Amino acid sequence: MIVVMKQGATLDQVDQVAKRVREMKLKDQVIVGQELTVVAVVGDDRFKDRNAFEVMDGVDRVVPILSPYKRASREGRPGKTVITFPGGATIGGTQIPVIAGPCSVESREQIVEIAHMMKAAGAVGLRGGAFKPRTNPYSFQGMGEEGLKHLAQARAETGLFIVTEVMSIDQVDLVCEYADVLQIGARNMQNFNLLSRVGETNKPVLLKRGMSATLEEFLLAAEYVLARGNPNVILCERGIRTFEDYVRNTLPLAIVPALHALTHLPVVVDPSHGTGKADLVEPMCRAAVAAGADGLIIETHTNPAKAMTDGAQSLTPAAFAAMMKSTARIAAAVDRTM
Ligand code: PEP
Ligand code: MN
Repeated sequence: MIVVMKQGATLDQVDQVAKRVREMKLKDQVIVGQELTVVAVVGDDRFKDRNAFEVMDGVDRVVPILSPYKRASREGRPGKTVITFPGGATIGGTQIPVIAGPCSVESREQIVEIAHMMKAAGAVGLRGGAFKPRTNPYSFQGMGEEGLKHLAQARAETGLFIVTEVMSIDQVDLVCEYADVLQIGARNMQNFNLLSRVGETNKPVLLKRGMSATLEEFLLAAEYVLARGNPNVILCERGIRTFEDYVRNTLPLAIVPALHALTHLPVVVDPSHGTGKADLVEPMCRAAVAAGADGLIIETHTNPAKAMTDGAQSLTPAAFAAMMKSTARIAAAVDRTM
């Protein structure tokens, strides 16, 4: 960081700042300019409190140089994180894994049937919520552990790995018994205690972007998981709230290359929640892959009109199969496979 002194700051004030830097076991370098004096802090200051300087006499402002998300950052780490799922599919390399399935697990028959159809169409992972974060407390809240058991049955029959949401700390052990990937929903992106808790597990974490989270807040949320020792975080863009009400959310695909520039973590796009409309999903899958997405997560249902949750954005198995075909052509154009 660089500590910028106020115009007219005294020599003693500059000395105090320099002394504080040394107390933090970092090196100080005082640069006296024509108008301003700055104190450059040399060394890894990412875990140091910049507020310690902001409150000092004579200090105007503190400018960070290194990103605050040390472990998620690309700084000093040129390669990408590659995660291998049970069954052998990978994310972060040339393969673009597709995770598909219903918004919610509704019954054993429903999840097993759709799992077979998704597998046949080329998906490698099965999604489905057993614990559902619902805006309305009277809406269907998910099947709970029974739903997890149905997911496990679908995995046993198809070999698809399971991605399912964990909403609270007290569900983590239970969900870990069944899930291959723990999903942290948009509404929990800044549930810091939950992030830390899943950071203590050995399951990959699919972290969805909060609907009003900035890119930096998103990466700092990932940092919570990484900081607890779990290196396998997958970032998921699922659309943000804007003034636009034609779509359920606005899907900002520019975040894909932006994240690739800043982090080594793989980036998945969810065009289902990102648009809220089934007919927009396929074009956005193609656009996401063109923009460099490392994976896709898609909601599907054998009868979207009867889905208990998110039917309007769910693809039929036929529409999913068509999407896979047309998006694979985009993947090939950017030297990747689906
Ligand atoms: C979901 O995946 O069904 C879901 C609830 O997603 P989000 O947290 O992105 O709204
Ligand atoms: Mn959903």
